[in-house]
Amino acid sequence: MPTTKPELLISEESIQARVSELARRISEDCPAGEELLLVGVLRGCFIFLADLSRRLTAQARIDFVALSSYGQATRTTGAVRLLMEPRADIEGKHVLIVEDIVDTGHTLHYLVGILGARGPASLKTCALLRKPSRMEKKVTIDYLGFDVPDRWVVGYGLDCADRYRGLPYIGVVNASPE
Ligand code: 5GP
Repeated sequence: MPTTKPELLISEESIQARVSELARRISEDCPAGEELLLVGVLRGCFIFLADLSRRLTAQARIDFVALSSYGQATRTTGAVRLLMEPRADIEGKHVLIVEDIVDTGHTLHYLVGILGARGPASLKTCALLRKPSRMEKKVTIDYLGFDVPDRWVVGYGLDCADRYRGLPYIGVVNASPE
């Protein structure tokens, strides 16, 4: 069991202010009278998506996908697989992918590819965090919360071996899930 308290990186207040700002921009950018389809990437998105969706003034439906992740490793192999399909039909919808963190970019790049091929009316991306120094795939993030350094971040839905997800802030841990 990890006993160390994660070192504070982004405070609860900063996260909440940024999530409100993102929700405002997303709502403003939604075409008038249209509905958004939020597609959250499990599992790390669940708290971010919950807060974001409750602050949108635009109408939104919520769906989820699950993709193969690092498992117990901290470094991606680049090979991504869809483990759980969205329930909604993507065709003709204004889709917004909601990710917890973009690291190498492989996951988001793959998801944009497969959902984009299903004929959405529009397809945008939102990520709470990005590690710019680790990007391997060029992928557009239309709505970004924060850039973070190349450390293992936890809290606000993000885990280290399924721990720390309930923290209200983003912290860094030295212990890796490997
Ligand atoms: P990518 O395909 O962009 O390399 O990886 C994206 C996924 O890796 C994220 O959705 C997340 O599950 C995981 N990930 C990458 N870096 C971190 C990190 O620092 N902390 C946590 N908890 N997950 C991470």
